Order: sequence, then structure tokens, then C-alpha cells
Amino acid sequence: MRTEIKRAQTVIPAGASSPLRACRNVDTDPLVVAEARGAHLFDVDGSRYVDFMCGFGPLILGHAPEPVARAIAEQAARGTLFGTYCRQEVELAERITATADHLDQLRFVCSGTEAVMSTLRLARAHTGRTRVLRFNGGYHGHFDLVQNKDEARMRDAGLDPVAMRSNLFAEYNDAESVRRLFAENQGEIAAVVIEPIACNMSLVLPEEGFLRELREICDEEGAVLIFDEVITGFRLTNGPASNLLGVAPDLTAFGKIIGGGTPVGAFGGRADIMRLLDEERVLQGGTLAGNPLTMAAGLATLDELARPGFYEELERKGALLEAAVLRHRDAAGLDFTFVRTGSVFAFIFVPDGTPLRRKADVAAQEQQPYTTLYQGMRRAGYHLAPDIEEPMYISAATEDAELEDFAARAIEILAAGPQA
Ligand code: PLP
Repeated sequence: MRTEIKRAQTVIPAGASSPLRACRNVDTDPLVVAEARGAHLFDVDGSRYVDFMCGFGPLILGHAPEPVARAIAEQAARGTLFGTYCRQEVELAERITATADHLDQLRFVCSGTEAVMSTLRLARAHTGRTRVLRFNGGYHGHFDLVQNKDEARMRDAGLDPVAMRSNLFAEYNDAESVRRLFAENQGEIAAVVIEPIACNMSLVLPEEGFLRELREICDEEGAVLIFDEVITGFRLTNGPASNLLGVAPDLTAFGKIIGGGTPVGAFGGRADIMRLLDEERVLQGGTLAGNPLTMAAGLATLDELARPGFYEELERKGALLEAAVLRHRDAAGLDFTFVRTGSVFAFIFVPDGTPLRRKADVAAQEQQPYTTLYQGMRRAGYHLAPDIEEPMYISAATEDAELEDFAARAIEILAAGPQA
């Protein structure tokens, strides 16, 4: 496997096209995967790993689910790119917009980054303002306007200083910090962009009333409220998580799940804002945006998600995992926090009961227990998040026995501590 990794590092910086995949944050070599099926990854030596990353979120059905694989193969034989009207594109846009009243119209792009980027451009065009307010610990892609300059772990070389000055950072779950920034930058803030459930600082849930207050502030101040649902869209319910949270944003960015494991992004929302694209006042384009291959994969995925009981079953699996982790943790006398919503979960190594409201609360944990957990679980045949602040995912293909064993092994490994 080392030879494979060396070969990758020769031709690809860090040997990976996205930094976390290099596994440096957990002091390990990446898994060299030959193929993946259902809940499992198989490495080039034939070892099997139960996958709790699901491709960083998209693979809610597991790997290569038969209906999606079939739809992709059938579509590939009928054309992968039309470069003109694509019926599947219209159908997927209809299916997604039908899931929430606040989604009047939608456009497709090829990544979550592009989706958020397009919402920000629309917000600036709509308001005639420049600045963007976001939250410490959020991640919205890798373009300048949403880079988090304040985090030592993030790379800030090469960013446009003008774009960076447009960025304002508030604290998650702290509406006062948002009000303060609006007061200090009167008439300048075009948009507030937020992951309604924060999935890039482990897993931090919004406190009761926080998102509602953001909605009120944006209405008072004439700013556009953007929910980045690249992870949460279709992960927790059959549509955006805003349906569960009871707050309607003006614009929403999607990605990951809606492409059935192929490159995708989408953004949509209020017709009066989306119309700026139709009036050709705002530019957004993409050679491969809305391509029939991705649309076919997305439609086949959404068919599965729409089956009665799909999300209830994922919730049951999530609850089973949570109960097992807590049972083993308490029996072993360990003290850490396990956070879960639906099929998304994270270990956070702070004492149980510590309030976890914002980035600094999560960043207070030590790295070592997670590195120990990651490395031990790799040896035990589990694929975990290669970074302490990435959450993990359960797919529909994960079996109950695998969840039970995951919990038992994880606690054994944590209780044993670092291996020499
Ligand atoms: N927004 C959120 C919340 C994300 O988690 C990500 C990626 O993980 C993005 C945007 C960027 O999406 P992509 O990697 O598809 O560009």
C-alpha cells in the first residue's frame, strides 16, 4: 500500500485531490480502496472496512446501490451530456423544489462550493451590498469569500485580501454576535450564511430559537438568509433540514446526496431573487451543470429516499448506535460526549454534559483520543472520519450488528489508550 501512496504523492500534491483524504490529521496513511459495495470499502489487499464516512456524506444509501448504479449505467448508454434541454434536470429540480415551500426555483451546479458561491453572488446582486456574515467553525467550500482566515488549521495563503475583508464572523448559537456585526456594518451586509445544523465543527446543534432569531434579524436588516444544506439536505428528512427546524431561509445550497454519489450542487429559493439569473443580471454557468448522468443518479436516489419509513429506519439505526456507545462508555467509566442527530454523529472528547454551542467549545478537546480511536478502528476494520472535526454518517446499508460492534470496539480502543 505504501507504494501506491508514494505513487499518488508523486503526481498529486499530498496524494489526494481534497486535503482531509490524505489522513494527516490522524497521523495515518489513507486507505487505498479498490472497490466499495453497500456499507463496505475493500482495500487493494482485500481487507474490508465498514464505512462510516459515506464519501463525506453523499452516500446515504451506501456504496453502489443497485437502483442508482443501474440508472447511471442506463443513462451513460443514452448520453452523459446534452448541452441543451435535459428532461431529467427539470424533473430533479421539480422533485427538490417540491420538498419545501421556500424553494420556488432551483439551478444545478457541480459542487457544494459552487452552490454556496452562487447564492452569495445572488444575495449581493439582490441587496446591492458586499459583505457576508458567517459563523466561526462553518465550512462552505474553498472559495475566497467563505474561507475561514481565523483558524490556524486552515490555509490562508493565496486568498484575495479584498474578498477576505468582506467576510464577517459571528459565533454559532449567539444571535447577539450577529446583531453586533450588523450594528457595526450598517447597510453593508448582503447575506448571512449558515449551516443550520453545524456539521463542520464535529456536530453542533442549533439551540431553540437561534435560527428563528437569525430569520428576524435578516428581515429587519434587509439581508438574505442562506442555509447551507450541502450536508444536511436530504440527510435528516426527505428535503432540506429547514423543514425540521421550522425556519425558512431565502436561499438554500444543496450538494452531496442529491447527486447520488456523482459531482453535484444546487441552489434555490425565492423566485424574486432567483429571477436575477433569468434576467441575466447575475452570471452562473457550468458546462457539466445539470448533466443527465448526475440527474439520473439523483432521481434514482430520491426515489429510494421517498420510500415510506426510510428516514424512520435511519433514525432507528442512529438511536441504536447512540445507545450502544453510551452503554459501553458508561460501563468502561469513560467520560466524553457523543452527539447525534438522525444518521449523523460525532465523538467529542470533552466531559459529557459540557455545553457545545460554538466552535471554541469543540476546539477545546484534545486530539490524542481521536487519533487513538481512528487508528484502532482502522485496524479493527472500520473507516472513520480522517479529522476530529468531521462528523460521521450511517448509511441505509449499515447493519445493526455492525453498529453494535462499532460501539463495542470503539470503547475498547479508547479504554486501552494509545498503542505503542
Ligand atoms: N458546504 C458544506 C456545509 C460542506 O460540508 C461542504 C463540503 O463538505 C461544502 C459546502 C462544499 O461542497 P463541495 O465539497 O461539494 O464543494
